[in-house]
Amino acid sequence: MARIVILGGGLAGISAAYHLEQKGFFDYQLFEKENSIGGLCGSIQQDGFTFDYTGHLLHINDPYFHDLIARVVGFDQFNVIHRRSYIYSHQQYTPYPFQMHLHGLPTEVIADCIAGYIKRATHIRSPKTFVDWVHKQFGAGFARHFFLPYQRKIFAHDLNKITASWTGRFVPQTSLEAIIEGTMYPAPAPSVGYNAQFFYPKQGGIVSWVAALARKLHQPINYQHEVVAIDSKARIVTFANGHRQPYDKLVTTLPLDRMLAMLETPSNRSFSAAQNNLMCNSVLNFNLGINRPNVSDKHWIYFAEKEFPFYRIGFTSNFATSMTPPGCSSLYGEIAYMNMSAARKDAIVARSIKQVQQLCAIDDHEIATQKVLDISHAYVIYNFWREKHLTRLLQTLAQDNIHSIGRYGAWKYCSMQETLLDGKQIADILCIQPARRYYETVTINPLSYQERIHEQQT
Ligand SMILES: Cc1cc2nc3c(=O)[nH]c(=O)nc-3n(C[C@H](O)[C@H](O)[C@H](O)COP(=O)(O)OP(=O)(O)OC[C@H]3O[C@@H](n4cnc5c(N)ncnc54)[C@H](O)[C@@H]3O)c2cc1C
Repeated sequence: MARIVILGGGLAGISAAYHLEQKGFFDYQLFEKENSIGGLCGSIQQDGFTFDYTGHLLHINDPYFHDLIARVVGFDQFNVIHRRSYIYSHQQYTPYPFQMHLHGLPTEVIADCIAGYIKRATHIRSPKTFVDWVHKQFGAGFARHFFLPYQRKIFAHDLNKITASWTGRFVPQTSLEAIIEGTMYPAPAPSVGYNAQFFYPKQGGIVSWVAALARKLHQPINYQHEVVAIDSKARIVTFANGHRQPYDKLVTTLPLDRMLAMLETPSNRSFSAAQNNLMCNSVLNFNLGINRPNVSDKHWIYFAEKEFPFYRIGFTSNFATSMTPPGCSSLYGEIAYMNMSAARKDAIVARSIKQVQQLCAIDDHEIATQKVLDISHAYVIYNFWREKHLTRLLQTLAQDNIHSIGRYGAWKYCSMQETLLDGKQIADILCIQPARRYYETVTINPLSYQERIHEQQT
C-alpha cells in the first residue's frame, strides 16, 4: 500500500509528488493514464514542428514559483517576452486591451464605448452575473463591442448564467483618461494585465519545464494506468489494466466531474447534484506548421466578431525559434464549444483555417503540417451552482480522504503557476500529519529519476 496515491501526471500531480519528496516523503505512487507526462502542459512533435495544447505561456508573479523555476529549471532556459497582442475587429488591429485602445476604430464604436463608460452602471453594488459586472466596470459600449461577444465565444455559454468571480487578475481595468488617450494616439499596448511579460522555454515547447520538474522525482511515474473506479470506503483505486491500489490519502487531479462518476461512495454520500451542475466547455485547437518564416509579427490576436468561429489565434514560432524547422513559422487557433458533432467540428476547423489563411496571406502549399487537438475540459463554467456548492463539495471529499486539486480537480480557471502551487499546498497539508513515521518505513531509491532511466536503458 502507498500511503498517498496521486492520480494524474499533469502539472498538479507532478507538483504534488515533487513537494512531497521535498518534505522527505516518498511513500506515494503517481498514476497517469497516458504514456507521457504534462497533461494540458504537454507538447507534441510533428514533422519538425512543436505544438502545445494551444498557447501555453508562463506568467510568474509569485515569489515561491519564481524561486522554484530558478532552482529547478533555470531562467537561462527561457525566453523573456514582452507581449504583442491585438484585437481584430472592423478589419483593424488594435492593441490589447480593448478597453484602452480604441484608436482606429469606427467613430460610432468609439463614441458608444466612451458614452457607455461615462454612464456605466456603477450603482450595481455587487454584480451577480458577468454581464452585470461588465456593465458596471466598462459600460454598455465596451460590453457590446468586445466583452460580451468575446466571452460568449470563449465560454460557449449563456453569460447571464456565469458569475464574475473568475475575472480577478484576468481582466485589466481602465479609466476615462486611459480610454481618451488610447482613442487619440495609436500607442502600443502598455504593460497592463497579468500577461504583459511572459516566459517561454527556449527548447522543447511548454512541456520542457514540467519535464524538468518530473526529472527531479525519485519515485517512478506509473504510466498507462487509467483510473476506472475509486472506492472511497475501502480506499482502493482500480485501473483499466486491472491493477488495484490501496491508499491512505488520495490526491486526484482528474477532472472532478469524471472523478465523481467513478466514485463508489458510502450510502450516506450522494454527488449527483454536483455531477449535474459541474459544467465546462471544450476547445478545438488547430495548429499549423507553415513553410515560410515570419507569418506574423504578433504573439496572439483576439477575435470577438461572430464571423470568426475562433476566439484567438497565436503565433508559436514567435515564442521560441526552436518550435519550427529553420525558415518556417507556426500558429494555433482556438474554438470553444459545448457538445458538437464530429462532422461539425471538421467543418468549423476547415472554415477557420481558411479564414486564418486569408488573414495571414498563407497559400495552401505553404501549410507544411497541421494538427488538431480536441481539449475536452478547457474552461470551467463559473455558474451559480459552483459559486454556492464547490467549496463544500471539495471539503466533503477531503473528509473522505480524497483531495481534489488542479485546474479541473478543483474546478477553476487557473494558470500553471496556481496549479503548481496547488501541488505544493496539498503536500504541505498532508505532511502536517506524521510524515516522518511514513518516511522511516520505506526504502528510498537513492538514484534520481534520470539516473534510473539511464540504468534501465543500459
Ligand atoms: C485553452 C487553455 C489555455 C491555457 N493557457 C495557459 C497559459 O497560457 N498559461 C498558463 O499558465 N496556463 C494556461 N492554461 C492552464 C494550464 O493548462 C493548467 O493550469 C494546467 O495544465 C492544469 O494542470 P492539471 O494537472 O491540473 O490538469 P491536467 O493537465 O488536465 O492533468 C490531469 C492529468 O490527469 C490525467 N488523467 C485524466 N484522466 C485520467 C484517468 N482516468 N486515469 C489516470 N490519469 C488520468 C491526464 O492524462 C492528465 O495528465 C491553459 C488552459 C487551457 C485550457
